[in-house]
Amino acid sequence: MDYSVIAKPDISQLKAHPNLDDYAGARASFQWDSIRKELDGLPGGGLNLAYEAVDRHLKTARRTKTALIWEGKNGEEERYTFEQMAQQSNRFANVLTGLGIQKGDRVFIFAERFPELYFAVFGTLKRGAVIGPLFSAFGPDPVKDRLEDSGAKVLITTPDLRERVKDILPQLPELKHIVIMNKNGRFKDALQPGDLNFEDLMAKASDQFQIEATQETDYSIMHYTSGTTGKPKGAVHCHRAVLGHYATGKWALDLQDQDIYWCTADPGWVTGTSYGISAPWTNGATQLIYEGGFSANRWYSLIDKYKVTVWYTAPTAIRLLMKAGEAAVKRHDVSSLRHICSVGEPLNPEAVVWGTRVFDQAIHDNWWQTETGHILVANYPAMDVRPGSMGRPIPGVEVAIVNVETGETLPPGTDGDLAVKPPWPGMFQGYWRNEAMYNSKFKNGWYITGDRAHMDADGYFWFVGRTDDVINTAGHLVGPFEVESALIEHPAVAEAGVIGKPDPIAMEVVKAFVSLKDGYEPSEQLRQELMRFARKKLAAAVAPREIDFLPSLPKTRSGKIMRRLLKARELGLPEGDTSTLEED
Ligand code: ATP
Ligand code: MG
Repeated sequence: MDYSVIAKPDISQLKAHPNLDDYAGARASFQWDSIRKELDGLPGGGLNLAYEAVDRHLKTARRTKTALIWEGKNGEEERYTFEQMAQQSNRFANVLTGLGIQKGDRVFIFAERFPELYFAVFGTLKRGAVIGPLFSAFGPDPVKDRLEDSGAKVLITTPDLRERVKDILPQLPELKHIVIMNKNGRFKDALQPGDLNFEDLMAKASDQFQIEATQETDYSIMHYTSGTTGKPKGAVHCHRAVLGHYATGKWALDLQDQDIYWCTADPGWVTGTSYGISAPWTNGATQLIYEGGFSANRWYSLIDKYKVTVWYTAPTAIRLLMKAGEAAVKRHDVSSLRHICSVGEPLNPEAVVWGTRVFDQAIHDNWWQTETGHILVANYPAMDVRPGSMGRPIPGVEVAIVNVETGETLPPGTDGDLAVKPPWPGMFQGYWRNEAMYNSKFKNGWYITGDRAHMDADGYFWFVGRTDDVINTAGHLVGPFEVESALIEHPAVAEAGVIGKPDPIAMEVVKAFVSLKDGYEPSEQLRQELMRFARKKLAAAVAPREIDFLPSLPKTRSGKIMRRLLKARELGLPEGDTSTLEED
């Protein structure tokens, strides 16, 4: 299969003219001031993410435009205009004022994807407080860790989730208020003594609010990282990040006024806030929010029903869609899709090629982290896609491959540390209560991402692996991504995770774990076949020496393969922090 390049589409044939049609020109002359000028700023001075995403549109024809289309788990549907979003978030900002919440206080939300979650996020930002969204599948310990570490004063949650974490709540002396959202009265006897009723408070609050005059560097959102490589870190962001959200929503997601946009990430992870809240609404797009989780059939029918045009998802979801097969797509009309993007893990070339076949367009990979706040490297609609590459740096930000010890940039084609020149708009402001770790990420004038990659002669970046995951076998440095991508080209393989297994002679040997597609069974014969297949695709030194079959690979709740856990289990070592591990 030819993975070399998927040529950019003929612009005249596209459903919309790309926002970024001259990448080289934009990179050459770009200044962040120009983006700042496209945003409004608070009427009395200052910058507030909620104002840029919601209230500023009230001065335009977007006031009555649908901002949010919500589909509930049970098929319920609700729609809210930008004006209604503004009113509802004003109400919640007033609720927080009534509770004595001050600028900078932490307000955490632990709930499913309801419209009210979004009102609460914007209300918190308008109040000038810091919002901390938590993924609703967390158990008591991860919730306790995060509320304790952040010193949260308010927890907004739902009756069922409150019940799940009830034992840890009395152990949090800084937590002053528990606000219970009972969406459409789904639960009877929702409140415990001392709880506050979200719906009552909202009904009593005014829908007018004077937004706190937050400045660019005031804190806005804090997110704990995915925990793929170790204990999750609380990355803190500031209102200035909205410049990066808006700009990359425009360039990489190509959001335009007529778009119906769907981001499948939960706001408990940074993709679900930067691109599930800020980027779409600062760009004035209509956003679909689906309460439920993954289901190939349901997802395709949502695209069909709401005529989704721009879709942002993740490699793990794409691999699951591949597993569900092409027949599943064909049962629906997904021809409304005009631009598809992916983030979170390396996107295997096989997935890009598959997307091109079934959706009639390339899936556009892009790279960023919780710490970077927004996309920094991307494939843009008006650019050739090189399957397996994360794309090229956004205008206004310098990204390079460096030698971490010296800070020198490395020439094209050389593997090294992926690094970013500070500052950029969405750069994290700290790890909460962990200044030493924050400082350790900056070396020789670069922010060191912890990922290894190389750049080709045309400035496309190629992911090699996490620095921690890179395998040293007989003097070769092997990135797990290359090996995993080769394995999943085999028709039997759904997912692959590759580790370095200590070896007395080679230092480490490459060991792969694979899960199979429906209809395939593990066998010695298949194992041998996969070994041969990988040896044909990869240099002998890189091909796996051992392959084990697993029913599924351990993943974070945000869908990333946890190689450190594969390794710990293989070696019989302690599993470390598993707070973000998704249970089967
Ligand atoms: P932790 O920092 O707690 O170990 P994490 O790094 O997975 O978890 P996130 O900030 O959610 O937490 O993920 C960012 C990381 O995800 C990147 O550093 C990179 O390793 C990986 N990643 C994201 N997008 C891509 C991509 N397009 N290609 C390859 N890797 C990606
Ligand atoms: Mg990380």
